[in-house]
Formats: sequence, C-alpha cells, structure tokens
Amino acid sequence: MTDIIAIDGPAGSGKSSVARMLANKLGLLHVDTGAIYRTVALRAIELELSLDDANALGNLARNLEIIEKSALIRTEAISQAASKVSQYPEVRSNLLDLQRRFAKDSKTGAVLEGRDIGTVVFPSATHKFFLTASNEKRAERRLLELEARGESADYETVLKEILERDERDQNRCVAPLKPALDAVVIDTTQVTLAQVVERISLAVHHRGSL
Ligand code: C5P
Repeated sequence: MTDIIAIDGPAGSGKSSVARMLANKLGLLHVDTGAIYRTVALRAIELELSLDDANALGNLARNLEIIEKSALIRTEAISQAASKVSQYPEVRSNLLDLQRRFAKDSKTGAVLEGRDIGTVVFPSATHKFFLTASNEKRAERRLLELEARGESADYETVLKEILERDERDQNRCVAPLKPALDAVVIDTTQVTLAQVVERISLAVHHRGSL
C-alpha cells in the first residue's frame, strides 16, 4: 500500500504549513482535506442551500469532483460554514472515497492533513501525528494568515471563532476531532514549524518504510 502520513489537529495548530513542507521535503503528494470540506461549504452557499439541510449537502458532497483552490475558500465565513457542513454523516461518508482516491492515486505516497485522517480516513496509516498548540498561539497564527491575505480581523474575534469551531469539531457525533490512539502528539506552541517538520521526518525515517 502507498505510504500515508496522517497529520490531524485543530485550526492554527500548524498542520497545513507542516504538511506542505513535509510533503515537499519527502517528495510526497500533499492532500489538504480541509479544502474539500471548504469547497462543499462554498458550493452550498453559491447554490443557496440551507447549511442545515443534511440531505442536500450530502448530495452535493457525493457529486463533488473538483476542489476549489482559490482564496474564496479561505475566508473566515467559509471556515465556519465548513465546520457546520462537516457535522453531517451524509457529507462525511460521501467524501471518504474522494479523499482515499486522491491519496492512493499518488505513486510516491501522500501526506494528508485534516481532523480525522488517523482515526477514520486512513486508520491504518503508516505514520500518524496530531498537532496541538495553546489557544492563544493558534489565534495568533490564524490572525497572521488572515492579515497576509488582506482580510481585516482582530485577535479577540479570531480567538472566539477558533474556539467555536473547536467546540463543533470536537463534539460532533461522527468522526470528531481527536488524536488516534496510536498518533504521536506534538505541541507546536513553543517551536518553529520547521522544527516540527524536522521532528516528523526523523520519526518517519526511524520507523522506516518510506
Ligand atoms: O483544516 P481546515 O481549517 O481547512 O478545515 C475546515 C473545517 O473543515 C474544519 O473546521 C472541520 O470542521 C472540517 N474538516 C473536517 N474533517 C477534515 C478536514 C476538515 O471535519 N478531515
């Protein structure tokens, strides 16, 4: 089987940057599964679907083929909408195949980032990591990210929105955000993301098979 590195964690834990850098360093495909949920949310809003209509959202997810790559999916409004649509089993189950297909199409192996990669999408992944950081650090990172894209935001609002999203992601009844029992948990509060990439690559090489 293709080697899979699963990187899960909450918003602002550093998982996107770490997954991207790690995939570059190891020559693996990078699959951002958050972008898939964000695309469902964006299309739902464009189609004026209710974000409470589990069946309509499930159909949308089932027919999804193309993942939006533009900045349209990176706004705070879409972050919140993605976390709402991702609560529904109808949406999650219809996206499983797509996520697995992306990863398996890669000849070299893949780094997948998300919330449930190690627990649900690839429970038998060769390597699993779960990134965490203090709420303050996560809000700081998210604020910098939004500012870099020219979105105006303030620290208190960003912190509140991150906590709202954590609450929804951790408490939904399917595939809640939590570390897999066999994941290595890394606190990224006091280290640079380059150091995290270094630590993960060492762990991956140490355990072998890449
Ligand atoms: O990772 P990102 O912040 O882009 O994810 C946006 C939202 O999509 C998350 O808050 C979460 O609700 C949902 N998501 C998920 N499962 C994943 C990836 C993302 O539920 N594997």
